[in-house]
Formats: sequence, C-alpha cells, structure tokens
Amino acid sequence: MKITFLGGTCAIGKSAVAVKTGETTVVLDYGVAMDGVPSFPMHIAPRDVDLVIVTHAHLDHSGAVPLFHVSRPIPVYATPVTFDLMELLLNDFLRLSGYYLPYEYLDTKTMFEFSRPLRYGEKVSVKDVEFTLVNAGHIPGSAQVLLEAEGKRILYTGDINDVDTCLLKGAFRDYGPLDAVIIESTYADEEHPERDDLEKEFVESILEVVEGGGKVLVPAFSVGRSQEVLTVLTKWRFEYPMAVDGMAVDATQIFLKHVDWLRDPELFKKAVRAAKWVSGWKDRRLLLKKECVIIAPAGMLKGGTAVFYAEKLAKSGNNAIYLVSYQIPGTPGRELLEKGRFVIGGKIRKVKAKVKRFDFSSHIGMSGFKRLLKELEGNPVVYAVHGEPEKCAALCRYARELGLEAHVPKVGDVYEV
Ligand SMILES: [Zn+2]
Ligand SMILES: [Zn+2]
Repeated sequence: MKITFLGGTCAIGKSAVAVKTGETTVVLDYGVAMDGVPSFPMHIAPRDVDLVIVTHAHLDHSGAVPLFHVSRPIPVYATPVTFDLMELLLNDFLRLSGYYLPYEYLDTKTMFEFSRPLRYGEKVSVKDVEFTLVNAGHIPGSAQVLLEAEGKRILYTGDINDVDTCLLKGAFRDYGPLDAVIIESTYADEEHPERDDLEKEFVESILEVVEGGGKVLVPAFSVGRSQEVLTVLTKWRFEYPMAVDGMAVDATQIFLKHVDWLRDPELFKKAVRAAKWVSGWKDRRLLLKKECVIIAPAGMLKGGTAVFYAEKLAKSGNNAIYLVSYQIPGTPGRELLEKGRFVIGGKIRKVKAKVKRFDFSSHIGMSGFKRLLKELEGNPVVYAVHGEPEKCAALCRYARELGLEAHVPKVGDVYEV
C-alpha cells in the first residue's frame, strides 16, 4: 500500500494522511491550520476517497473533513465523543471564520449524517482494509488508528499522551507487530514534569493566592484542559469556589454525556458538581467580588471570556494568572508570560498579578517517545509528523538509534509500505 502525506508534516496544523491499497483509499484526519486565515491540507478528490477516519476533535485534525461532503457523502469514522466535540468546535469555527471556509453549515450536517461512531477496539472492515481505534490519552474520545491491509499493519498515532492524567488513562501501546508507524512529534525533545509534582505545585500556588484573599484566573482550552484543571483541583480537595466559563461549559456537558470514556467518572462528576457554571455578565461580576479560581478559555488569551477576567485581575498583586498550556510566540499569553504585559482597556500595561506557567501537557514527552519506539514490534518504518522540523528530526534520531528506518516526510511525499 501507499502512504501519501497531505498535511501536518514539519508543522502542527492541517494533519492529513492518505492510505491507498489496491481497492481502497482511506484518509486519516483532515484538519486545518489556523495561523491567520485558515488553510487546508493538499487536495484529494472526494470521488477517490472511500472513507475518512478522524483521530480526535481538535480542528488541526478535523476542521477540513466537511470539505469532502460538499460534493459527495463519504463515511466518517470516529468515536462518539469525537463526533459530539466536532459538532461544538466546527459550529464555533463556522461562526468565527465562516467567511474564509470553502464549506458551509449544511456540509457539516451531511458529514454528521454519514458519521460512523466506533468504540475503542471495535474492528471495522471496508473492502480490503480492516481497522481499529484505540485510546490515545490526549483528549476525551481521542484515538490512534491501527490499520491492516495487504498483509501489512500500520499505526497512525494522531496526538497521544502516554501518561495517566486526572481525566484520562494514558495511551494504549500494545500494538503488536507493525510495518509502518506515523507518529506525532510535538514535544519530541522536551521532558514534561512528573504529573504528581506538577499537580501539587499548581494546587499549592493557587491556595497561596486565595488564602491571601486573591483571585486566580486559569486561561485554558475549552476541550480537555479546562476539565483537567477542574478535576485536579477536586482531586486535591480544593475547597474555595471554582468557576468555569465560556465554551468549556459546553464541552463539559459533552464529557458528562460520555462519562464512561473518562478515567474516573466519579471524580469527574464530583468536580462538575463542585464547580460554578458561569452563564452571563451578572455571574461574572459577582464572581469577581470574592476569592476564587476561574477557569476560562481561551488558553492563550487570544479571545474568549479569559480576556475579560485577565483585564480585571491584572491590576492587583494579590491575584494570579496561571497559564496551563504552551503559549505560541506572538499570542497575548506568551507576551504576558515573557514580558509581564497585557492589553488592558486598549493599552499595553504592566501586569501586577502573579504570572506563571504550569506544563499540563496532553502530549507525550521525550522519554515517553523513546519508550514507545523501543517497545515497537516488527521493525516498522517510522514517519515523524505533527511537529516543528527539529522535533520531527529528533524523533527520527531516536528511531534510528534503535535501528529503525525513519523519515521526516514533506507534503506530497508518497511512500510504499
Ligand atoms: Zn490534539
Ligand atoms: Zn494536533
């Protein structure tokens, strides 16, 4: 079979891979890149595609899938959680960027009509291809794809996290013998802190602020990170008010509907009961009257209600803004972290509140990658994608040190397996 890389090579954004066998063409993810105007993976004619498999709902993996449904219905396979989250994220994407998108709301509706929800481990056969989704540990419902055809087995990891978090179990890694592995490389040469230490430090830092009468803003992505923060605080018996705002509220509703996909459904339900759900400006203003933690998107302060809270909290050294994800250079979050500045009332101002970043990554780190590669059976060829060029190169280096053939593909490259 042939693997064609359609996007998401040497970069994060517009992940897309086509696998072509004698009878079937499968597209694995078809995402968008969102730096500025949305951009799309390499074109593949919908008439040439038999099915699409989506690993998870993040738009860099799912945002371009409805493009296939402009001209022709094609079955799309993913977990039920992924489909529900895609609905939330695609509708929001259409609302914000619809003007730039070559598909419309109706095309997403067609896509959902042709959705084929799958559980982890469920085997599917389409013509000469057989595939299974297994846990990726990245966000709820996220999956890796194990695909078998013409006597070959390939693994596409999508985005993975190998360690257990409060929300999810670490990624499934009992793959069996493989001929090819397409693997993400986001943090290939970076180590994440030990999860338990990180949680402890995070909760203690928050306690210090609220016990001193201050308020803490945690800007976080709506899907996954917001709920992880809430669950971490609940696990460590945090007793001050916790509030959740913005699209994180809708994502939480979806997680509640699929609570059995989470690592600890009871802990999650407890966290949801403990939180206050912000539903309007009156709630927001009331919240700011006493000490509390506010979890609100966007994670890099590029918009959303987090911006409102950041403007209010920034003015006092009693408060804190604790970032919980990587901050892309050029974003307001990065500016805040590096220079302690934020735009308040239209002007750039010095921020008095404490600012710190806690590395709650949902991606596998350096030692995780090395362990995963070492455990691979069958001497597979490794293709490093979804990362800056130097990250993909680092991943290839680890693979080659283990005697595996490894490549950093470019968009349009075709490999025979
Ligand atoms: Zn992702
Ligand atoms: Zn991704």
